[in-house]
Amino acid sequence: MLEADGLNRPDVFDCAVIGGGVIGCAAARLLSRYDISLALIEASEDVSTGASRANSGIAHAGYDAAPGSAMARLNVRGSAIYGQWCGELGVPFERCGSLVLAFGETDSRALAELYESGLANGVPDMSLISGDEARALEPRVSPDAIRALWAPTAGITSPYQLTIACWENARANGLATFFDTRVTGVDCSGDHFILNADGGASVRARYVINAAGLFADEVARMFADSSFSIKPRKGEYILLDRDDSTPRRVLFQAPSAMGKGVLVSPTADGNAFAGPTALDQTDKADASTTREGADELRRLALRSVPGLNLRAAITAFSGLRAVGSTGDFIIRASDIQPRLIHAAGIASPGLTSAPAIAEELADILAAQGLALKEKPGWNPVRAPIERFAAMTTERQAEVIADDPRWGHVICRCETVTEGEIVEAIRRGARSMDGVKRRVRAGMGRCQGGFCAPRVIELLSRERGVPMDSITKSGGGSLMLAGPIRESARGFASEEEARA
Ligand SMILES: Cc1cc2nc3c(=O)[nH]c(=O)nc-3n(C[C@H](O)[C@H](O)[C@H](O)COP(=O)(O)OP(=O)(O)OC[C@H]3O[C@@H](n4cnc5c(N)ncnc54)[C@H](O)[C@@H]3O)c2cc1C
Repeated sequence: MLEADGLNRPDVFDCAVIGGGVIGCAAARLLSRYDISLALIEASEDVSTGASRANSGIAHAGYDAAPGSAMARLNVRGSAIYGQWCGELGVPFERCGSLVLAFGETDSRALAELYESGLANGVPDMSLISGDEARALEPRVSPDAIRALWAPTAGITSPYQLTIACWENARANGLATFFDTRVTGVDCSGDHFILNADGGASVRARYVINAAGLFADEVARMFADSSFSIKPRKGEYILLDRDDSTPRRVLFQAPSAMGKGVLVSPTADGNAFAGPTALDQTDKADASTTREGADELRRLALRSVPGLNLRAAITAFSGLRAVGSTGDFIIRASDIQPRLIHAAGIASPGLTSAPAIAEELADILAAQGLALKEKPGWNPVRAPIERFAAMTTERQAEVIADDPRWGHVICRCETVTEGEIVEAIRRGARSMDGVKRRVRAGMGRCQGGFCAPRVIELLSRERGVPMDSITKSGGGSLMLAGPIRESARGFASEEEARA
């Protein structure tokens, strides 16, 4: 499906990006400043449906990655320009700082190593502090923590808001988007590639960025490039309702032979979460949550924050890291097809590095011969959807006077109005999850139990499609199952239906 109707679509795009996660959308956003024709091809019904949907949302300071790696370089650069990107795109970002907690001498040695690698990576303003100093920065930290690594440049953001905002901004600057278009094969034709998709659609492009997340190895193989492979590593989370026990800083545990430890953190929306676990698996589609995962998270989270109110848990979710066979980000032109540029193996800290990866991809494209000339009138600014719940009373009165739909609350848990939902749909939400990620309808404590029917109606009305075609997240994830509707219709009277 060509999303950007009315756009002057060329026969051959200068550049096509495969994958609408944070990496593909950040690349599209940056490339939209140049005078080139640009397309984004995404298998799902929306952007931000892969790893960019379910992660910790941390803009890491950069002490974790091995010195000299692409991860280290791009993490530190990404962190440095995060404020500017989020500011221009109207995305929440708070440099609340992170603490890595040590509970014993082995942990303390691990902190010292992290500090050294942070120095080597160029992370600014870190310090090794005592347990009491850590508790002064974050009173919820356990009394058992004896030392901490403090990194004030770490921050929190909304990963899907950032991805959506990059896409909206790129689109406003001329990007064409093909949703529901999974690239399944590639032909070469003279100076360009023909990217063939399910259902017979095809997109032609001279240069291609492979930002297909977990499937980047399969996309590479379509170009006869089998130089790397990608394995999924699952991370489970528990999300907690807003509560007094929510910490204000990001709290890590010292890495050990048992793994990286579990993190307790505030989200950009004021909730708290515990996670992620780390489980290697073979199935690239299995993002289920487990009882064992939740139990492990509960146990480890209380180690960092003994007062964490785990009874405030409102949901569990998981995300799949795309772990590349090289152990580092794979960001380079393909040796087989130099006009194919890989952005693969983008596990953590991919969210943090996204703006810097976008810069690097533009440099590689230019080095491979794509002329990148700035186009006049590029606008880096994208206005966010105004949140009714965050408005002053005066502003609320003003928007309701302008359009009464802003006074009609649909999601009671998060106080989301019809006006916000209509705006989300106008900007491109096509599914329940698309609405949820844009304006939080269904994100609160009842998880959509009350507002889902109303959101279905609004999606149907605004998109001009039948209610029974509305999906949770595209594909076959229909919200209304046929037989339920049919049996209700089949009753002769309301009394019969009730009986
Ligand atoms: C549990 C977990 C925690 C994390 N925490 C953090 C963190 O706190 N901080 C941080 O910096 N990073 C974190 N990360 C890493 C970060 O989430 C990822 O690096 C980032 O989201 C990767 O983005 P992406 O665009 O490469 O992949 P994705 O978001 O997965 O996007 C890839 C897209 O490609 C599409 N696609 C795939 N194949 C095709 C095809 N053939 N045709 C068309 N489209 C296709 C998919 O549908 C998908 O939308 C975490 C990751 C996980 C899983």
